[in-house]
Amino acid sequence: MKERFSGYELVESIRGGEVSSEELVLELLERIERSDLNCYITVCGDAALEAARRADRAVRENDRKALRKRLLGVPVAVKDCISTKGIQTTCASKILCGYVPPFDATVVRALKDEGAVILGKTNMDEFCMGSTTETSYFGPTRNPHDKSRVPGGSSGGSAAAVAAGETVLALGTDTGGSIRCPAAFCGVVGLKPTYGLVSRYGLIAYANSLEQIGPITQSVLDAALLLDVIAVEDPKDATQVKGVRRSFFEELRTLAASWEKEGVAKLKLRVGVPREFVEGVDTGVEKAFWAAVERLKELGADVGEISFRSMRFALAAYYVIAMSEASSNLARYDGLRYGLRLEKDEDWHTTFSKIRGKGFGEEVKRRIILGTFALSAGYYGRYYLKALKVRTLVRHDFDEAFKRFDVLATPTMPFVAFKLGERIKDPLSLYLADVNTVPINLAGVPSISVPCGLSDGLPVGLQLIGRHFDEATLLKAALAFEMAWKD
Ligand code: GLN
Repeated sequence: MKERFSGYELVESIRGGEVSSEELVLELLERIERSDLNCYITVCGDAALEAARRADRAVRENDRKALRKRLLGVPVAVKDCISTKGIQTTCASKILCGYVPPFDATVVRALKDEGAVILGKTNMDEFCMGSTTETSYFGPTRNPHDKSRVPGGSSGGSAAAVAAGETVLALGTDTGGSIRCPAAFCGVVGLKPTYGLVSRYGLIAYANSLEQIGPITQSVLDAALLLDVIAVEDPKDATQVKGVRRSFFEELRTLAASWEKEGVAKLKLRVGVPREFVEGVDTGVEKAFWAAVERLKELGADVGEISFRSMRFALAAYYVIAMSEASSNLARYDGLRYGLRLEKDEDWHTTFSKIRGKGFGEEVKRRIILGTFALSAGYYGRYYLKALKVRTLVRHDFDEAFKRFDVLATPTMPFVAFKLGERIKDPLSLYLADVNTVPINLAGVPSISVPCGLSDGLPVGLQLIGRHFDEATLLKAALAFEMAWKD
């Protein structure tokens, strides 16, 4: 069995009967069993094997309808903050241990409709709060490139599983970098779609106005394929924008095939490098980044510099907004309706505080307290309202940049994966790691991290950023870069 599978090629092999989905799933389950990376919180062995057998049967019986399914028999890992019917969904929190959703998130429904095999639920920072996967109640995930290091977060389980060949495709979520950071640290591709492209129905909320579900994969083509599948229009999510382009894979695949023959086509892209995103990053990362920019130039891109004046305030504004939304979202965990319960019922106030005292981890509590403070009477104008004003400025900077450029390029993270335990005791230094990823969520624009070499033997990510709902241009740029880089 191959070490790694590319998702879009795998579908063809399964349809053609050259690969059995069941054998593949068995192999992956074995790898997961043997692994010490701790990528998964829950592995759904039986259900996965059943779905795989169904796919194989459809191939044997030449079931035309099933054969058209875009992910027939392909294993997918799902971050544990996305609801899965009948499968425990914990957000990596003690407070949700044992919670089994009675419904599927829209993206999970979409995966099943297209024949995907759900392998399991991946480890993450508790309630998506973190950049290392160390705040998980189930223990940290390790980076497959160096097990003494963090995989990034909060979708660390998904990224590590893809990188280590413990799944073929994975879903993550990104509120301020949680797809792109672990993708960069684990050397894989991670795409945060435009806010409003993918339904959030069934995603357990951290900060609603910032987050999106998106693909973590080994290649840009796989990311496009998975995005096409999950980006279904959904009446259940009122914040989803309807009537925009939702399919990218076919065009991309045609491009890739012609580029393979003729060499990567000259891209007539205008690429902007926002100065403030490069200042202060580690030397090794900066070197890899400029080498990547050189490669874009060789591809015919017209590269220019630009300044983001709002950058100084973006990180602070993000944390005020994210924590405020989190504090109100997390009020629903009262020990009565979901997950953890007291041995015996007590009055509401006692139950509420005891359960939350026991059920939430330190980082989650910190954010609830800070978020509640930022929203409280007397401070609202000083923090939350001010952060919203900064958000408008950030959006304005992006609007201006996209008048001159088609995509923007930055290093995804300011440094490579660091040691487990190195920063977890210093929350502020962890928050600072998100400096290049959070402005994107404040503006709602799409962004992708693609591997661009190594620094100190560890993966570095190139972050490309596109216009609202212009995933087409963003993915093309990422694909061209990826193809040229691998040459
Ligand atoms: N690290 C950021 C935070 O802790 C981003 C997390 C995310 O995108 N979910 O808020």
